[in-house]
Amino acid sequence: MTVTRFAPSPTGYIHVGNLRTALFNYLITRKAGGTFILRLDDTDPERSKQEYADAIQEDLEWLGLTWDRVEKQSDRLDRYEQAAQDLRDKGRFYECFETPTELDLKRKKQLNMGKPPVYDRAALALSDVDKDKLRAERGDGHWRFMLDQERIEWTDGILGDLSIDAASVSDPVLIRGDGQFLYTLASVCDDIDFGITHVVRGSDHVTNTATQIQIIQALGGTVPSFAHHSLLTGPQGEALSKRLGTLSLRDLRAQGVEPMALLSLMARLGSSQPVELCSSIDELVEGFDIANFGAAPTKFDMNDLFPLTARVLSNLPFEAVADDVAALGVPSDRAQAFWDVVRENITVKADMAEWWSLFLNGATPMIDDEDRDFVAQALSMLPEPPYSAQSWADWTAAVKEATGRKGKGLFMPLRKAVTGRARGPEMADVLPLLQKKPG
Ligand code: GLU
Repeated sequence: MTVTRFAPSPTGYIHVGNLRTALFNYLITRKAGGTFILRLDDTDPERSKQEYADAIQEDLEWLGLTWDRVEKQSDRLDRYEQAAQDLRDKGRFYECFETPTELDLKRKKQLNMGKPPVYDRAALALSDVDKDKLRAERGDGHWRFMLDQERIEWTDGILGDLSIDAASVSDPVLIRGDGQFLYTLASVCDDIDFGITHVVRGSDHVTNTATQIQIIQALGGTVPSFAHHSLLTGPQGEALSKRLGTLSLRDLRAQGVEPMALLSLMARLGSSQPVELCSSIDELVEGFDIANFGAAPTKFDMNDLFPLTARVLSNLPFEAVADDVAALGVPSDRAQAFWDVVRENITVKADMAEWWSLFLNGATPMIDDEDRDFVAQALSMLPEPPYSAQSWADWTAAVKEATGRKGKGLFMPLRKAVTGRARGPEMADVLPLLQKKPG
């Protein structure tokens, strides 16, 4: 049985980078027929907000990535305390009192001497009397997990065989001086208790994984399979971290990106398979294999989402957009015809409004100088609406007869005059939608 989790911290909106993690976990779970847990990593009471927890759920629902269960770390503090006690009993947990400034100084000294900036375990030498004294002066200490200084090895689902020397990593802090449990411990307890079998997350977590493997073992848990996907970069390979704020799922949604466009891109970007527009999540599940992904950073260009969105829209049946069309004020007897005319000519749904306004009020005509007289003459030959499916053919035949123009020289100036643009739907379909005579 495959059990996975997507574990965002509700300290902000989720972005495309988070989506990659969510989607990979979701797809492997659905493919294997397992349980997908949404876990809210909310052990930081100051930064975690209900508003963000709600937003995360809303964003996932928008995409159709449904979870089987929600868990909150803030509900499980007793369990983390119990795990902490277990680690103390096993001699793997020690209290330290260095201030951030002291730690910083130690790191600088080590770096100056060409040594890796690994915590020196000075606190292990403190006697009980020393600790009492420090506690009285500085308050409670923070607690570090004592790593076994050996190589930590695992076969990563994406990165292959990995080996990290625990001696090159600082003993991780699991409880802060103010008593707050840190993610590293909470996550391990949850992964054990919820029977997590596969963890897919960003490659920024590789060192965490090494230390978490030892903590899981110390607590007597089963180590899950790990896979670390590459991080996203901008189109030029630039770091995306600073721009991720503008790549939140809600921003993309507000810009009109369609869920299947986003999911189709993210399920393939960075893999050896080409991006293909899928019509359903089931189709994505079918074609997904995490083994196709590589370690190289993955370039993400949000502009790629728009052609895909346009294709999603052009495939949508009228029923799927009936509400959006009605909301524009399109009368119901024209709604279907309106959609059939615009579906191939919009990038995002919001573009429909421009077309409806054009049909309702007319366009600002686009007339080339040399066509002025021709267009004026042609428009004078166009009767008042309503127009039928036959109106365009009748009108252009009459104009051809009167002016001698034909082909592109006949049709293009009329298209530009009526719609204000050089491209768009079949004019025979456009005319019946016009509520006013053009010009
Ligand atoms: N809350 C962590 C994060 O968002 C979860 C990492 C994990 O998947 O363990 O980075």
